[in-house]
Amino acid sequence: MHGHVVRTERLTPTLVRVVLGGPGLDGFAMPESTDAYVNLAIPPAGAPYGGVFDPKAVREEQAQEHWPARRRYTVRFWDEAARELTLDFVVHGDSGVAGPWAASAAPGDVLVFEGPGSGYRPDADADWHLMVGDESALPAIAASLEALPADAVAVVRLVCDGAEHEVALDCPGRLDLAWLHRTGAEDDVDLLADAVADLEFPAGRVHAFIHGEAEEIRAIRRHLLSDRRLPRADMSCSPYWRRTMDDEAWRRVKRDFVAAMDADVA
Ligand SMILES: Cc1cc2nc3c(=O)[nH]c(=O)nc-3n(C[C@H](O)[C@H](O)[C@H](O)COP(=O)(O)OP(=O)(O)OC[C@H]3O[C@@H](n4cnc5c(N)ncnc54)[C@H](O)[C@@H]3O)c2cc1C
Repeated sequence: MHGHVVRTERLTPTLVRVVLGGPGLDGFAMPESTDAYVNLAIPPAGAPYGGVFDPKAVREEQAQEHWPARRRYTVRFWDEAARELTLDFVVHGDSGVAGPWAASAAPGDVLVFEGPGSGYRPDADADWHLMVGDESALPAIAASLEALPADAVAVVRLVCDGAEHEVALDCPGRLDLAWLHRTGAEDDVDLLADAVADLEFPAGRVHAFIHGEAEEIRAIRRHLLSDRRLPRADMSCSPYWRRTMDDEAWRRVKRDFVAAMDADVA
């Protein structure tokens, strides 16, 4: 599956929106989930193929050095009528593959992907919703808030680099939103966990969505399980990326990390 870039927009200094369209999206079927994601396939510089390609065929036929880099990105919007797919990319400096691709994306560029996959949708039976994450989880949290009914209660804590990095969020229900700003200090990594620990939880059953940097997610998950006694089934916790590792390195250790995370609280 693939899309052609229709337009791009810089939402914040470090968040780039890319809208894809064209006939390459003809078979795209959006799941019910609000954290649906696609697996991008971005060819390395100098790859002996280009434009539209089949990632599986490339992996079978080409030397590994030419294989496309795989990166997961959340479907921020799927516009069924216009058949347009919107992805929001964090551009974290010059490093990486997907961030720089998005920063320089221009109308007409092709983006090949596989998917979508997904897992979470706010549970309509929950009494309230807790959503916590960094910029990488912002697309899923924004989409999840928009899917809430008018009588829902959502408590959202998001971390970003400063006021100019915040984006407006729509929520039909009652929204308790706080943005936390990194200061460049070492304990920035504790901002989200401390904010969750400081929360006075509303009454009733919570459905939690905790996605973002691996160690931050792990600390929050541990707190929710051991201190707040949340049932595992009421939490969606996903370590999307890992500080100091690119996605290739992260995927190599992710299974063990998730197993250790699962074992954190007996
Ligand atoms: C299911 C799923 C959905 C995701 N949805 C989104 C999404 O909608 N938008 C989005 O931006 N990301 C999303 N991510 C995270 C994204 O896939 C990773 O951040 C990915 O590593 C970025 O690839 P890259 O090529 O830009 O950087 P990489 O080559 O993977 O990494 C280069 C360096 O940048 C660091 N880095 C990676 N990501 C970040 C970041 N967000 N902030 C700061 N430093 C970073 C790495 O630790 C590494 O040091 C999602 C991940 C998953 C698993």
